[in-house]
Amino acid sequence: MINVAILGSTGSIGTSTLDVITRQNERFNAFALTANKNIERLYEQCCHYLPEIAVMVDEDCAHELEKKLKKNIETSHIKVLSGTEALDDVASDEQVDYVMAAIVGAAGLSSSLAAARSGKRILLANKESLVMSGDLFMQTVKDNGATLLPIDSEHNAIFQSMPESFTRTAASSNNQGSLALSGVTKILLTASGGPFLNKTLDQLHHVTPDQACAHPTWEMGRKISVDSATMMNKGLEVIEASWLFNATADDIQVVIHPQSVVHSMVSYSDGSVLAQLGNPDMRTPIAHAMAWPDRMESGVEQLDIFKVAQLNFEQPDFERFVCLRLAYDALRAAGTAPAILNAANEIAVDSFLNGEITFTRIADVVEQTLEQLVSKTATSLEIILSADEQARRVAKEICAGNS
Ligand code: NAD
Ligand code: MG
Repeated sequence: MINVAILGSTGSIGTSTLDVITRQNERFNAFALTANKNIERLYEQCCHYLPEIAVMVDEDCAHELEKKLKKNIETSHIKVLSGTEALDDVASDEQVDYVMAAIVGAAGLSSSLAAARSGKRILLANKESLVMSGDLFMQTVKDNGATLLPIDSEHNAIFQSMPESFTRTAASSNNQGSLALSGVTKILLTASGGPFLNKTLDQLHHVTPDQACAHPTWEMGRKISVDSATMMNKGLEVIEASWLFNATADDIQVVIHPQSVVHSMVSYSDGSVLAQLGNPDMRTPIAHAMAWPDRMESGVEQLDIFKVAQLNFEQPDFERFVCLRLAYDALRAAGTAPAILNAANEIAVDSFLNGEITFTRIADVVEQTLEQLVSKTATSLEIILSADEQARRVAKEICAGNS
C-alpha cells in the first residue's frame, strides 16, 4: 500500500486526487488530508477515507473538526493537527510515500519543500513553489533523492513528450539533462486563452470575478481561474517549465489552443513534434504521476478524436495579456523577480475577487510592484520569503491607492 498525503485535499486538485484513489484503493491509501478552513468538506472526506491524520491550518476549525470526528467510533482514531507546521510534519511523515502538493499559492511552499527535504515522491500541483524558489527547490529535490513529478497538465504533457532518458533524470536529479543534447529544439506550452481570449482591452476592464472564474474548458479553484483569465497562469507555467525542464525563456513558446485537447508539445531537431492529448480532466496527470513509470485507470473518458474534429493554434497577444509578458520578464530577470511577481499577483487577484480593483488593474499592480522592488539573488529561503513579504506590502499599498 502506498500512503499518500494530500495537502489541500478539499480543493479542486485534492478532490480529483481522492477520486483517483477511490478507483485505485488497492494500491493507494489516503494517509493524511489537509485543508485551510473548510471543516464540512474535510469532515466528509475523513468519514469517507478514514485517514490517519487530518490537518486544519486554522486552530479553531481544527478543534471543531476534532469534536465532530470524536463523536463517531469509525473516525475517533483520526489524529487532528493544526497550524502551518503540521503541514510540514505530514509532508515529511516517515509513513508517507507520496505527497500531493495541492495547496494554492505561496502558502504551499513550506510543505512542498518539506516533502522534497524528506525525499518523497512529490506530485507537484502547487506551481507557485517552483516559481518562488525554483533553484532552491530543484536543489533540495536533488540533494535528498526526492522524485518530482508535475501535475500541472501542460508540464505533465511535456514530461510525457520528452525522451525517457531526459525525464528519468529530470524526475530525480537537478535536471542536468540538457534539452539540446536530447534533441529538443522547443517546448510548446499550450494555453486555452481563458474566458476572455477574444475580448478587447476595453471590454476586459468591466469583467466581474464570476465571469473570470467561469473557465471554458477547465473547472478549477478561484485563484487559478483568475490567473487563467489574465494569462498570469501561463506566465507562472513558463517559469515552472523553465525549472522542471532546465529551459530558458527562449526555449519555451506559448501557444493559444482554445480546445484544451493538446496539453503541450515538444519539438525535436529532426522535425518531429510530440504531443500529449486527452480530455481536459486533471485526473489524467494525477493518475500518470501516481502510477509513473506505469499507467493506470483514472476514470477519465477516452478522448473522442472525431468529436474534437478541429484543433486551433494561435500566437498569444502580449498587449492584451500583459501578465504573460511580465512573467517572461521576471524569468529573464531571475533572482527574486519571480517571487515578487507571484506575491504581487496573489494580492492583486485577492483584491479583484473582493471587488476592490478592476480586472485590468491586476497587471498594473504586478508591474508597478516589480518596478518598485529590486530583484536579488535568490540564494536562501529567507531572501525569497523576505522578497515575498515586501512585494505583498507594496502590492497592497498599490491596490489601496487604486480602489
Ligand atoms: P483550490 O482553491 O480549489 O484548493 C486549494 C486547497 O488549498 C484547499 O484544500 C484549501 O483548503 C487549501 N488552502 C488554501 N489556502 C491555504 C493556506 N493558506 N494554507 C493551507 N492550505 C490552504 O485550488 P486548486 O484549483 O485545487 O489549485 C491548487 C494548486 O494546484 C494551485 O497551485 C494551482 O495553481 C494548481 N493547479 C490547479 C489546477 C486545477 O485544475 N485546479 C491545474 C493545475 C495546477
Ligand atoms: Mg496548467
